[in-house]
Amino acid sequence: MSSEMPDGGPLKRRGLILILSSPSGAGKTSISRSLLGEENKSDNSIHLSVSVTTRKRRPSEVDGVHYNFVSTRQFESMRDHDDLLEWAEVHGNYYGTPREPVEAALQAGKDVLFDIDWQGTRQVLEKMRADTVAVFVLPPTAAEQRARLERRAEDDSDVIARRLSNARDEITHWTEYDYVLVNTDLDESVAKARAILNAERCRRERLVDLPDFIAALDRDLAAETG
Ligand code: 5GP
Repeated sequence: MSSEMPDGGPLKRRGLILILSSPSGAGKTSISRSLLGEENKSDNSIHLSVSVTTRKRRPSEVDGVHYNFVSTRQFESMRDHDDLLEWAEVHGNYYGTPREPVEAALQAGKDVLFDIDWQGTRQVLEKMRADTVAVFVLPPTAAEQRARLERRAEDDSDVIARRLSNARDEITHWTEYDYVLVNTDLDESVAKARAILNAERCRRERLVDLPDFIAALDRDLAAETG
């Protein structure tokens, strides 16, 4: 009698892309940082896809960690060589996701977190729907959204005004996402994002050796039952 799993270990899985999008000030970056921090304490890890951008670095940001800060010329060269899985102009700057690290991670069964806008999300969903889970984060109120941007105190008041006015367009894209989080409480939102991630990891389509696992289980069951 064997009580071991037929393959002797956990199922192999293709990695997934978890997209978090939101208008500025909804708290998406706090959610993603917290999710990355928690995840890295466990065996199941998700890694941030580090985008390239032509935006100026904020004082709290580290080149190569939060973004790879590049010139417009460097950005255009990557884009024209098809090195970007997706790209967009957001609030007057270019942003894009380098393709190669994402493809390698998915292949190796690792999950990747994308902090990208709706334009990028649309491109990723067009190219890689089956691998992608898209989550839209909303602020509870416009007043709270403004307060969060002001508390961050890393952008000028005209930049904040521009981001708030762009938010009106951004929120119209809510129907293009799989899940929506209204970020009233950070811990609660992180718990929900984590629940989404864990559920999506169990999707049958991602379990690449499931047919072999089932076949082995069936063989064991046949032996058990004579
Ligand atoms: P921030 O300047 O506040 O870091 O980002 C501005 C917006 O650009 C955010 O909505 C963020 O999600 C989005 N963004 C950051 N990186 C990328 C990227 O690689 N591609 C796209 N499409 N959007 C991005």
